[in-house]
Amino acid sequence: MKAAAADQSLLIELQLIDSAIMQAKSKLASLPEREQIVAIHTRLKASAEELAIVEAELADVTIDLRRSEIDVEQVADRITKDEVRLSTGNASPKELEQLQHEVATLGKRKAELEDGELEIMLKHDGVKTRVEELRSDEVGLQKLELELNVRLENAITEIQAEIDSKLSERANVLPKIESPLIDLYEKVRSSNSGVGAALLVGNMCQGCHLAINAVELERIKTLAADEVLRCEECRIILVRI
Ligand SMILES: [Zn+2]
Repeated sequence: MKAAAADQSLLIELQLIDSAIMQAKSKLASLPEREQIVAIHTRLKASAEELAIVEAELADVTIDLRRSEIDVEQVADRITKDEVRLSTGNASPKELEQLQHEVATLGKRKAELEDGELEIMLKHDGVKTRVEELRSDEVGLQKLELELNVRLENAITEIQAEIDSKLSERANVLPKIESPLIDLYEKVRSSNSGVGAALLVGNMCQGCHLAINAVELERIKTLAADEVLRCEECRIILVRI
């Protein structure tokens, strides 16, 4: 195949543009913010699940605590009443003795109930702290998610602008190259990970970075400048400088 040397040089320009587009697209697909956002979603989900459990536990413990407070209050009221009766002395000695005995028993009962109340109170505080921690984590994660979304959008906009600019460069270069050469370039490129043309520098193909053997190199030297070369190793279009 033959093509003007100038067109072959433009092919290298086109390749640089296409490589830049490929790199930008790959960067777009692998922006770290995407994975970070997914990780945050996972953490938010786990946090919300734990929060639901801990909030239910807090509701239960709050009821337990209220019950326990009522129990203590009731016993304390009975003690107060008994003590009032005792202090007025308005009872028979046997009754007074019974009252004293009751006050002592109630005092013991009250102490036990207060111990229980303290235990529930500690549990209540622990659960409440955990709820607060989880709520605060949730707020922090949501804030981070928001920031990451902004960063992701900015990065996408920036890369997309780069791609658009390269596409417009491509559109400018494309009409300057004769179409059979473009067709060959596209064909090679589609089967060669996006690389269709490379420079021949010295005896090296810049596509596969392998040396062209001496015999082939000698043959190349005899060829006219408009002869389109292909690398024997990678089949890429080799452009002479
Ligand atoms: Zn090669």
